[in-house]
Amino acid sequence: MTTTLSSCTLNDGKPLPGYSVVDLTANQKPVVLTTSAQKLSFPLTPEDINDIRILEAKFDQEKNCAGLAAPQIGIAKQIIVFAAPENEDMKKWRPDFTQFMDKTIWINPSYEGIGEEKREDYEACFSVLEMAGTVKRYNKVRYTAYTMTGDLVEGMAEGFLARIIQHEVDHVNGKLFIDYVPGDQLMKIDDFWKKRAEALKAEQETK
Ligand SMILES: [Zn+2]
Repeated sequence: MTTTLSSCTLNDGKPLPGYSVVDLTANQKPVVLTTSAQKLSFPLTPEDINDIRILEAKFDQEKNCAGLAAPQIGIAKQIIVFAAPENEDMKKWRPDFTQFMDKTIWINPSYEGIGEEKREDYEACFSVLEMAGTVKRYNKVRYTAYTMTGDLVEGMAEGFLARIIQHEVDHVNGKLFIDYVPGDQLMKIDDFWKKRAEALKAEQETK
């Protein structure tokens, strides 16, 4: 998930891969973004570890990037990286940002919703250029994943953290946030930010 876009930089002298992106006007979606990625087995191969490092480097170079999944840079493997550190500014935009997590790399991640409650909030994605939309997601999820050393990680997440996890895990299953958004409700990201800022201002004025 993201709110800004930026260009590629170098990793060990090699250019980082660019993003696989959907072209909505031409209705073209790269296969790597729309099919389930390969599960990894442990111990990871040197190639897997290299792919993880490339994904992490790509994530690190982005400002305001909550998460990335390997298919987004053309690597069809079940790897995601995300971060949700406590951030006062972010909490203003995301009132349900109540649970935090430092930078995390997960292999073969999955989630399931807990309970019926779903919430709507906006999302954007490096794989869907310049568009944003409102997506209904589980407020609480149970997740499982593996660390790079093959240790099982399990837990529960809620609010915005749960949203990031759902968005990124969906990527390794070939699902994009726009799959949840009716076409006529997708917006240009600039318009979305304007609308969002106006709503926030109006909210503050009524307090
Ligand atoms: Zn995304």
